Amino acid sequence: MTTTVSAYAADSATTPLTKTTIERRDVGPHDVAFDIKFAGICHSDIHTVRGEWGPAKYPLVPGHEIAGIVTEVGPEVTKFKVGDRVGVGCFVDSCRECAQCRAGEEQYCDNPGMIGTYNAIGRDGKPTQGGYSTAIVVDENYVLRIPESIGLDQAAPLLCAGITTYSPLRHWKAGEGSRVAVIGLGGLGHLAVKLAAAMGAEVTVLSQSLKKMEDGLRLGAEEYYATADADTFTKLAGRFDLIINTVSANLNLSDYLGLLKVNGTLVELGMPENPMTVPAGSLIFGRRSISGSLIGGIAETQEMLDFCAEHDVTPEIEVIEASYVNEAYERVLSSDVRYRFVIDASTI
Ligand code: NAP
Ligand code: ZN
Ligand code: ZN
Repeated sequence: MTTTVSAYAADSATTPLTKTTIERRDVGPHDVAFDIKFAGICHSDIHTVRGEWGPAKYPLVPGHEIAGIVTEVGPEVTKFKVGDRVGVGCFVDSCRECAQCRAGEEQYCDNPGMIGTYNAIGRDGKPTQGGYSTAIVVDENYVLRIPESIGLDQAAPLLCAGITTYSPLRHWKAGEGSRVAVIGLGGLGHLAVKLAAAMGAEVTVLSQSLKKMEDGLRLGAEEYYATADADTFTKLAGRFDLIINTVSANLNLSDYLGLLKVNGTLVELGMPENPMTVPAGSLIFGRRSISGSLIGGIAETQEMLDFCAEHDVTPEIEVIEASYVNEAYERVLSSDVRYRFVIDASTI
């Protein structure tokens, strides 16, 4: 027995998303079922749907920034009850046994890997389907609690964009006395600015142009530079402890590595389709590093939500009807998003 719910799905890499129905499993002993109220649109949804990270499993319902209200819980569930405000991020399961899972870093599960909220195969052997839909069933251990002070529409983007930027800022100890640059003021970037500022770091935005400068400064950045201006790279040489790269396209990384202090780190969050080249000298001179970071574990995601509630960090969103999703994708691709589209699931 399953439940039929409405959804928006892609049937191929080249066709628009259209309205359809999908099946959700029955609520098992450890499951939480919830009505989805809002689902954010992450650039990763677009990369995946369009096959930019390899062939996807169609039909595909994207969406891994999901917030809603619990409608049913299984008999063994202890953490949630009907009526609770909850969320789900980028994964809905993992092996629970490997060193990473035991350490609460389920996103790095290596046995064989976390089970994505969509475009993966669940424990039941069926394809997982994401948040552009009206309801979902998820094991309680992969469900987050949304603090009362955060609206469900604003909570949605925190479940991917929020944790993806929070985790590296914590890992590389952004805070009082550190200088952080954020490349790209989009969904991830604008939250990186807010979170780094809330942690006490001095934040600089590196955007393609100065078009969004006023916003960047309002969000908490102290400085804002256009990367189209070659002077930016001479002016800011050797300035930053940490650079968070949220850009979804290929950049000339050696230009940006020159902006790091000795021992500084550039963290890749954006995952462009093609590899990037890095001249060894830009790492060797200055013992600089490039790293990457993948979302965050369940415990850290809850910590991030609680941090956002405490420090009043919420995303800037544009709530849309589901039928607007294909136009929203085009606007994300042309960097015309202020700063996250969120689908109102009641319109699906
Ligand atoms: P987004 O809203 O589209 O933001 C990306 C920003 O990058 C744009 O707003 C733009 O900022 C800048 N940009 C875009 N094209 C560019 C180009 N050709 N050259 C220079 N800058 C460009 O996307 P998002 O949802 O924040 O996601 C960003 C990336 O992170 C995507 O690749 C996504 O798949 C990835 N991601 C990774 C993780 C992870 O766990 N590591 C999690 C979520 C998403 P400006 O207009 O300010 O220049
Ligand atoms: Zn995402
Ligand atoms: Zn594992």
